[in-house]
Amino acid sequence: MNKNYAIAVLPGDGIGREVMASALAVLQAVAPRIGRGFDTRQHPAGAQHYAETGQSLPAPTLQACREADAILFGAMGLPHVRGADGTEIIPQLDIRFALDLYAGVRPIRTFEGLPTPLAHPEAARIDLVLVRENTEGLFYARGRGVMQGEDAALDTMKITRAGTERICDFALKLAQRRREQGRAGQVTSVDKANVFQSMAFWRRIFEERARRFPEIATESAYVDAMALNLVLKPWRYDVLVTENMFGDILSDLVAALVGGMGMAPSGDIGDRHGLFQPAHGTAPDIAGQGIANPTAMILSAAMMLDWLADRHQDTALADGARAIETAVQQAFAGGAVRPREFGGTSGTAEITRAVIERLQG
Ligand code: ATP
Repeated sequence: MNKNYAIAVLPGDGIGREVMASALAVLQAVAPRIGRGFDTRQHPAGAQHYAETGQSLPAPTLQACREADAILFGAMGLPHVRGADGTEIIPQLDIRFALDLYAGVRPIRTFEGLPTPLAHPEAARIDLVLVRENTEGLFYARGRGVMQGEDAALDTMKITRAGTERICDFALKLAQRRREQGRAGQVTSVDKANVFQSMAFWRRIFEERARRFPEIATESAYVDAMALNLVLKPWRYDVLVTENMFGDILSDLVAALVGGMGMAPSGDIGDRHGLFQPAHGTAPDIAGQGIANPTAMILSAAMMLDWLADRHQDTALADGARAIETAVQQAFAGGAVRPREFGGTSGTAEITRAVIERLQG
């Protein structure tokens, strides 16, 4: 059976377009190996599109996202392109809300052959997943901020029972799957329950849901202590789950642990739709130079295959995901390929070529 999957592709702005080209080349290389096809259609959206047309996320693009089997997303936003209220153009937030992509999933692991900024020898075995609640928390305030004259501004943190239950369950089930694959099977919920009512509520719900998963070790930690411990001993964590704003901040922190944004893939996942994108932004400082590291985008495509494999009970796709991950690991392990953030000279094309050669070899 040579089944085809429809992938809506939104390259976006800046290096989003460059790393997307790499991921699509890798997908086309893996397709014949697993006997599957990917019908990748590109759709306009982003800050450049807004500057040209006044629309950041055209309705046909959102519709194409709804209809596709999965969405591959580059990066969007440019510092000099602003909406009427002065904020950046970030249609990825609109897509998250429109498709109810409530779980922001950010897996982080160290790669043999690439240095980490941490000197501790245990840093070589960092392997954790940060699960960020994507639809409420402090981001509920987006577009709802209140000015009190010119004296004060208020933004509201919203934590609902339904929203917290589903994200906690998502994290607990993920830990269950990781446990089946030989990992620890542990979830750390990150909050600030010692100060805020909303966060005490979050903690109570996490503890309720955790009781349904007795085989998973669970704990709660304050976000400030987590910022410390994620630098001191990140290897002791398996799955982390947290509200939207804390997740936004901690996902950059955990990306830094393995050498930067160019290595950090992510998925925004709901019950019906899945969008996969690198954790980094459009990096206007390096756009157009061919030096962006495409690894995060390539690994996001592998995450997409894993998610599709689960949804369609199609193990060939999971084989494709493993093949891409292995090719990425092998490309770096020998030391011949080293991205520029790691002090090397390898640009986008060289890294992409190295991964594809290993896929085909
Ligand atoms: P956003 O707010 O959308 O996350 P940002 O401007 O805060 O965007 P990025 O665009 O992710 O952040 O860039 C942060 C830094 O990381 C920049 O110096 C950028 O050059 C670097 N960077 C990001 N992604 C990559 C990549 N794939 N390869 C190399 N460097 C990258």
